[in-house]
Amino acid sequence: MGCNHDCANCHSNCGSSEIEKLKLNDRSSIKHIVGVLSGKGGVGKSLVTSLLAVKLSKMGLNVGVLDADITGPSMAKSFGIFDKAYQQDDLILPYITKLGIKVISTNMLLANDDDPIIWRGSLISNLVQQYYKDVRWEELDVLLIDMPPGTGDVTLTTFQQIPVDGIVIVTTPQELVSMIVKKSINMADQMGVPVVGLVENMSYVVCPNCQERIYIYGNKDTDYLSQFGYPCLSKIPFDGRLTKLVDNGEVEDFNLDYVDDLAKKIIEDMEDK
Ligand code: ADP
Repeated sequence: MGCNHDCANCHSNCGSSEIEKLKLNDRSSIKHIVGVLSGKGGVGKSLVTSLLAVKLSKMGLNVGVLDADITGPSMAKSFGIFDKAYQQDDLILPYITKLGIKVISTNMLLANDDDPIIWRGSLISNLVQQYYKDVRWEELDVLLIDMPPGTGDVTLTTFQQIPVDGIVIVTTPQELVSMIVKKSINMADQMGVPVVGLVENMSYVVCPNCQERIYIYGNKDTDYLSQFGYPCLSKIPFDGRLTKLVDNGEVEDFNLDYVDDLAKKIIEDMEDK
């Protein structure tokens, strides 16, 4: 109702598919695209994106990571990237990590890591579009997109213009966060993007003395997650080793099984496609 079919200038998330998907440059092809989303910042969305990239890469896939969290980029830090991005033949060259993961993140374009991006949403969305279509990804099995938190402009543009095959939603076991998760799920549903599953991060800590699991948020069972209608594919403890790996740019040294089931589900989805 009241639709003027000018989807490019309309910010209603009505799920209309009248906006054409962006065309990838002819030096690249991507088989499968997964967005990693959270209702709110600080719940570990970027951590999950990087752990998943590492896992999928170690399982033999060609993986790319597009850091669409433009104002709070953390991928360069997690992977220990200090180089700047280069341009070749009108395309941006991503950084290629030790494992061969191709990464593009805004800090790779800034003179100083702590320079802020003080832009309006539409400009930020344009940059995300460029990261998709103007980066020389070459042959990727899977591209992971670390989305900004929430259901704002960039998330909307990404869902409308990038052919996302599925999204992973990261949450923590607090009621406030769960309530906001529902918004992300509703958005994905309205935009017709399938939800791969949920990840509960910071679920518990393991006592270093007796190995007992302590549920810091008091939410021991994951039943509450069933209200969302999607499986919880991974429960990640609060683990200081993870913080260190990220802070030291050594996320590729991660060798635990925290996101194994999630990675397997993504591979199954790729095979079913
Ligand atoms: P988001 O992308 O949701 O804003 P991040 O992934 O950047 O959140 O995580 C915020 C901070 O918390 C980072 O310093 C990250 O290393 C740390 N962190 C996230 N999850 C865990 C965890 N399970 N154990 C330890 N540290 C974590």
